[in-house]
Amino acid sequence: MDLKQALSLLKKNGYKYTDKRELMLNLFQKEGRYLTAKEILDYMQAKFPGLSFDTVYRNLSLFERLGILEGTEWDGERRYRIHCNKDHHHHMICTDCGKTKLLHICPMNGILGEPDDFEITGHKFEIYGLCAECNGNNKATKSFTSNR
Ligand SMILES: [Zn+2]
Ligand SMILES: [Zn+2]
Ligand SMILES: [Zn+2]
Repeated sequence: MDLKQALSLLKKNGYKYTDKRELMLNLFQKEGRYLTAKEILDYMQAKFPGLSFDTVYRNLSLFERLGILEGTEWDGERRYRIHCNKDHHHHMICTDCGKTKLLHICPMNGILGEPDDFEITGHKFEIYGLCAECNGNNKATKSFTSNR
């Protein structure tokens, strides 16, 4: 999903492309990782000091509903990233920085056939962990501590 696609989706659904929405989507585009509403609010308040959490949250819900963002939850907090409209795939998610890595396997391929009494319409599959960068930082901290 790029900004042009996001803009046309908003228009098509009768929503305006306001300064705030543009700034928000720019941030998602630039970061390309999962962000919490709090991170977005902090970033946006630099430009819109009076901005409320409510406004951020309402826009996040709207963007998710329109398929501009995709959301998931870990550590009890909902996070959002720009929706990737690539072919069907899954993500490995760093729970520290929110970066994602593409997973090229789908566990559904291992399920043979469909049950008679249940029609599958979709599925979710995510792997959580630490990216090399965050893992490296942890190790560096640990060895630093043990050297003292
Ligand atoms: Zn993706
Ligand atoms: Zn990370
Ligand atoms: Zn799948």
